[in-house]
Amino acid sequence: MQQLNDWYDVDDVLYDGTKEEIENIVCPDCGKKISYRYSDGSNSFEVSCKLCGHISRATGSPKPNCVIYFGNEYDFRK
Ligand SMILES: [Zn+2]
Repeated sequence: MQQLNDWYDVDDVLYDGTKEEIENIVCPDCGKKISYRYSDGSNSFEVSCKLCGHISRATGSPKPNCVIYFGNEYDFRK
């Protein structure tokens, strides 16, 4: 799989990646699985690594591919 160098790459994959790419996504800092949450009402999208404590938020964005494949909330560690 492609190497993810930073959280911008993670966002790219979550928004535009294939189902398999999204499933295999890991935190660029610690290599562990990440989580996300998307809200339909506010179009807000939050991506986090609970291990590192990193959280990135975006609002007003179109629905990311990961939401289409895995639903509005997902913890990739499960
Ligand atoms: Zn991490």
